[in-house]
Amino acid sequence: MNDVVRALTDALGEGSVLTGEAVAQRATSYWDAAPTRALAIVRPRDTAELAEAMAICHRFDQPVCTQGGKTGCAAGAASTEREVIISLERMNRIEAIDTIGATATVQAGVTLQALQEAAREHELLFALDLGARGSCTIGGNVATNAGGINVLRYGMMRNLVLGLEAVLADGTVLSSMNEMLKNNAGYDLKQLMIGTEGTLGIVTRVVVRLAPLPTSCNAAMVACADFDRVTTLLQRAQRDLGGTLSAFEVMWNNYYTAATEPGGHRPPMPREHPFYVLLQAEGGDPGADATRFERLLEQTLDSGLIEDAVIPQSETERRALWEVRENFEAMLAGRKTFLYDVSLPIRCMADYADEVAQRIHARWPQGRAIMFGHIADGNLHLFVQPESPDADHDASDEAVYGPLKAIGGSVSAEHGIGVEKRGWLGWSRNETELALMRTLKHALDPRNLLNPGRVIEL
Ligand SMILES: Cc1cc2nc3c(=O)[nH]c(=O)nc-3n(C[C@H](O)[C@H](O)[C@H](O)COP(=O)(O)OP(=O)(O)OC[C@H]3O[C@@H](n4cnc5c(N)ncnc54)[C@H](O)[C@@H]3O)c2cc1C
Repeated sequence: MNDVVRALTDALGEGSVLTGEAVAQRATSYWDAAPTRALAIVRPRDTAELAEAMAICHRFDQPVCTQGGKTGCAAGAASTEREVIISLERMNRIEAIDTIGATATVQAGVTLQALQEAAREHELLFALDLGARGSCTIGGNVATNAGGINVLRYGMMRNLVLGLEAVLADGTVLSSMNEMLKNNAGYDLKQLMIGTEGTLGIVTRVVVRLAPLPTSCNAAMVACADFDRVTTLLQRAQRDLGGTLSAFEVMWNNYYTAATEPGGHRPPMPREHPFYVLLQAEGGDPGADATRFERLLEQTLDSGLIEDAVIPQSETERRALWEVRENFEAMLAGRKTFLYDVSLPIRCMADYADEVAQRIHARWPQGRAIMFGHIADGNLHLFVQPESPDADHDASDEAVYGPLKAIGGSVSAEHGIGVEKRGWLGWSRNETELALMRTLKHALDPRNLLNPGRVIEL
């Protein structure tokens, strides 16, 4: 046992510091089943223990890697053998729900689903939602500024955080547990921790904003003949559903076809349409909301804006439609896949998607670029499957990221930069922005102990 691990064990106790086989038997992440590599895993129970652990790591100049639910898509939580992992897994308490102020105060290791369920018990909604809800944590959601399926209505995680507490690189506790929507007393320091992927501090507690729990939910999967019709449908739904549209998920034909291949999901409608849209509206007036939703579908069918529609008749059927969009495991199994998450102006999306598909096919004639995304917020996901065992990740990155700069797109819509996209950060950020990011990193973590090598090269 080396000196820093001994000091951590002495301070926090053996049960709080895992080493050896207890480290290796854990998977690296949701995406990578390889054994975890790290000097130790530290599992503090509260902020005071974490502050003590960081003070020790600071004293020994020991780099750390922070882990929430390990579902992040940019390998930011994948540790190296020289790092100590800080796991928030035991800081999983929902401390308070204020039904009058509509806020919740939670420890950072609470899973997204646990918070959603706790809010629902009080007839309140925690509006962030994404496929990894059962595993990802609120701290991870803050650190990555997570997006997901409700962004068009409620915004990203940044819009839902009112206050937070974090432990800084030297063990100092920064408490900024604001509960109000309005607070312009000086700098809004919580923003330093949101979307900075654990490079400036470790989030320990969070105050989030809740919303009234909707009492109606209307959903449908519809088919469109081209992308212009998809965007027109989006505008119509936003206008005609009285602000209740909460999700608008678009699947290109190749996503839908792959998701409903034998062994995958049962196709809710034929696989011949160029685009499939899963739209959902949630409101507070069940009768009127259903009428408005049905009217939208009737009118858009009559006018040819949509070609087909499937309306679920039960909660089970509604979930089955969502499974097509959210559960893509079968599509990935046994296939080399490069995962992308870009954003760009919606008006450029159809041409961009065509260009990327052409670039991929030019490079790998048997390959495919499967496309889907949240779209209403300009967010497109891609699975590039080169169908070639020695396919080069860099060539795939060139094909996907290359066309983005000219149209003002971003190499990361919601997954962050982590390790995987670090080389491409300069493609979406200018020199002045990069220099200020480095200044902030130097100011808060001069010894580069927090998630070193993630997000920005120093
Ligand atoms: C099936 C699936 C669907 C997904 N869908 C979406 C989606 O729709 N939208 C979306 O935005 N993301 C999505 N993701 C990605 C992922 O769920 C999010 O990035 C999530 O916010 C990560 O949370 P986590 O707790 O798993 O963080 P981790 O993966 O553990 O960590 C992610 C990053 O945050 C840092 N970090 C974690 N906890 C803390 C903390 N307490 N303090 C400081 N830094 C910390 C880590 O060091 C790392 O850099 C999806 C992932 C999967 C597997």
